Amino acid sequence: MKLEFLGAAREVTGSKHLITTKHGTKILLDCGMYQGKGLETDAMNRDLGFDPKEVDYLILSHAHIDHSGLIPYIYKLGFNGTVLCTPATRDLCSIMLADAGRIQESDTHTFNKKRQSQGLPPVEPIYTLADAQACMSCFISVPYHKKFNIEGEVTVEFFDAGHILGSACVYLEIKEGRRIIKLGFTGDIGRYNKHILKDPEPFPQVDYLIMESTYGDRLHTTISNAEQELLMAVLDTCTKKRGKLIIPSFAIGRAQEIIYALDRLRNKQLLPDIDCFVDSPLSVNATNIMRLHPECFNDEIVEYMKSDPDPFGFDRLQYIQSVEASKALNVRNKACIIISASGMMEAGRVKHHLANNIENPKTTILCVGYCEPTTLGAKIMRGDKTVSIFGHQHEVRAELRRIESLSGHGDYSEMINYIGCQDKFRLKKIILVHGEAETQEHFRDTLHEAGYKRVDIPKRLDAIEL
Ligand SMILES: [Zn+2]
Repeated sequence: MKLEFLGAAREVTGSKHLITTKHGTKILLDCGMYQGKGLETDAMNRDLGFDPKEVDYLILSHAHIDHSGLIPYIYKLGFNGTVLCTPATRDLCSIMLADAGRIQESDTHTFNKKRQSQGLPPVEPIYTLADAQACMSCFISVPYHKKFNIEGEVTVEFFDAGHILGSACVYLEIKEGRRIIKLGFTGDIGRYNKHILKDPEPFPQVDYLIMESTYGDRLHTTISNAEQELLMAVLDTCTKKRGKLIIPSFAIGRAQEIIYALDRLRNKQLLPDIDCFVDSPLSVNATNIMRLHPECFNDEIVEYMKSDPDPFGFDRLQYIQSVEASKALNVRNKACIIISASGMMEAGRVKHHLANNIENPKTTILCVGYCEPTTLGAKIMRGDKTVSIFGHQHEVRAELRRIESLSGHGDYSEMINYIGCQDKFRLKKIILVHGEAETQEHFRDTLHEAGYKRVDIPKRLDAIEL
């Protein structure tokens, strides 16, 4: 069989890896979008490196856009195969891809206005809301631990990766005559001892493992500190400075972790009487989907829900859908907490909140996740004195804070712990994807020290025979 790396190779977005079996069946692992590099990404996203019409199956590890975001695009180009994923991933995709379709339409609209003023012809969005809605007809959901057989040749099974709701490590058995190749694809690996989702679970022995490496050179602080760090940020900003605490957050996963932490602090009577707003329609919908999938919850939250049936809601928390209500927050002077997407501060309503508050020293921007190095979030958090938001220069006078332990990705010790379920001698090769090149080299050294001798770091368009 052949394995080609078409994205997230020595980089952190655009996850796409194509399997071609001996009989010619084409199976794509993830179909993610490149994010965070401005105009350059559009060209990278349109250049797939394969013909969507030839792909028979797409196996999706989880719903994040850097793993799923090009599904509507390949559908538009003639993909007529089947998308396999867990039920929660399917549900999340139905809202996330629609949201991505809307963003493509509105970004292209803005871009075309500029082009028109330069006398240039308009361009088409890579896909639209309608494409995103239509592609959902290709999805089949397969629960964790149920085997799905592809044409008597490949067996697929999902194992909980503990990264976001529905996230999976994909375990494949690929038959080639008498030989069976066992291939694992971790997708993104979550952290251990989280508050809502289960730990990443062990998966069967594989011969080859395609493994993410986002935090291959980092150690996080323990998750239990996050609640305390969040409380300190609230007290310092909202009680002492009487300012706004802006928490840019991925709509899926991180937002619910923050909301649940605030809910716990409120129940413990530690959270002061401060208004909290979740200003992101996608976060609102994602929270509702989360409520529909208690099968993904760990024992802690199940126990918690016996005394508080809604861990994502409390008296001072408001979910905001409408644009008018979101705009009303701009003129509000009172101290408050605003949780808003996107996490990397590149898109979404959070950009308006930043534009309106970043020059105010009473404001605190609390970064709770990874920011790709070219994004606005990375520029702010690395300490740039001025940043451009919506084409205007803003001085950064807001206080900057960071909680790293809420990361959705395990650090290197957690990732090594995760692959502890594998026999090092039977594992023929680890193939690192989804990481910045330097981080991956660091992680390769760490894996070598841990006794994993064969570790490859493929480049984009590299192909290997297994
Ligand atoms: Zn992810």
